[in-house]
Amino acid sequence: MIEAVQSGLHPQLDAIEIDGTGKWIFPGLVDMHVHLREPGGEESETVETGLKAAIAGGITTVGVMPNTSPPMDSPESVLNLRQAAARCGLANVVPVPCVTRGRSGREPVNFLELHETGVSAFTDDGDPVHDSGLLLDALDAVYGFDGVIIEHPEVTDLAGGSVNRGAVSMKLGVRGIPGAAETADVARCMEIASNSKGHLHLTHLSLPRSIELARAECFHSAHVTIDVTPHHIALCEDALMEHGTMAKMNPPLRSSRQRKNLAEMVKSGMVDAIASDHAPHALHKKEGSFEDAAFGIIGLETLLPITLEILIGLQMPVARILHLLTGGPARILGLPVPGLTAGRKADCVLFDPEAEYLFSEKGSFSKSVNTPFFEQKLKGRVEAVWMGRLVYRDGEFART
Ligand SMILES: [Zn+2]
Repeated sequence: MIEAVQSGLHPQLDAIEIDGTGKWIFPGLVDMHVHLREPGGEESETVETGLKAAIAGGITTVGVMPNTSPPMDSPESVLNLRQAAARCGLANVVPVPCVTRGRSGREPVNFLELHETGVSAFTDDGDPVHDSGLLLDALDAVYGFDGVIIEHPEVTDLAGGSVNRGAVSMKLGVRGIPGAAETADVARCMEIASNSKGHLHLTHLSLPRSIELARAECFHSAHVTIDVTPHHIALCEDALMEHGTMAKMNPPLRSSRQRKNLAEMVKSGMVDAIASDHAPHALHKKEGSFEDAAFGIIGLETLLPITLEILIGLQMPVARILHLLTGGPARILGLPVPGLTAGRKADCVLFDPEAEYLFSEKGSFSKSVNTPFFEQKLKGRVEAVWMGRLVYRDGEFART
């Protein structure tokens, strides 16, 4: 519990005192787009390893994607995730079950039955909801309880490549994914959302044009929010030349001009949240050719330092950056907006904004190592995390 927030407090004799001089304290981050891979993908990540990586990244609330095996599409599967998370006693999980049964795209889940278990957000992430009629009905259904449909925008007919279609795909001799694979689906989704009162969230937008469409005046009646990832504002397709398949993701890294414009749009307030799209893959799935390697990178431990580096570099105020990682995503998921006030449960992070270190496999808690950020110098380190109690300090987890 936070007893008081003020200067000149005198702690009790048996209290642990932590010197926060020069450090920041802020509410635990909310990462609304995370793949924990359990059940079915435990060789890549488990609930426990994923939630440890979250806490080490200053994230205390995790929106968990349903593309597991079997997919999370029933009250039982939601309960299983909650129980696995409770056994860890680490970050809060917000289960985000499927829009369609088995994530097959054909038949909707029972939204009301799932909502009764306490969930409000749904997604078929990994795939879009192709069936436009089903998407419209889903938006209408979740409107009844203030829920949200999270859409992974992609026209799969256009998305048969491995990397962005452009100079780098030519150089690599690899089939490219054109921007239209994303923007054409954003346009479709915006038209559909304009015909419903339901809340649509478009996730991991990677192109300035997608954001222009989502914010276009002609769609002002639609209730639409959007997020971008740290990697799409930090890296461009050139990273493929240096990092190979460790920089392969979907949507792909775009051109350097598009990356720069995307980051500027985040700075100018056009985006509601930043989310990691943490997508762990066992190493063998990232090896081989560009065509064979799996899409995605891990991102929980780099979410905050990478986001800060790019947006502070654009002179975006820190409070606004942190809002994109706390209040912004919390509001989208229908959660209370995090804050540090007396009387609330302590859910907060102590962060040293000046600490510099090499991010490495040894320093990471994720079970997977698929990231282009290993051996890169990061600035800003999470020193301690409280979740009602001190759960993490200086790279170690407190025993429960
Ligand atoms: Zn996705």
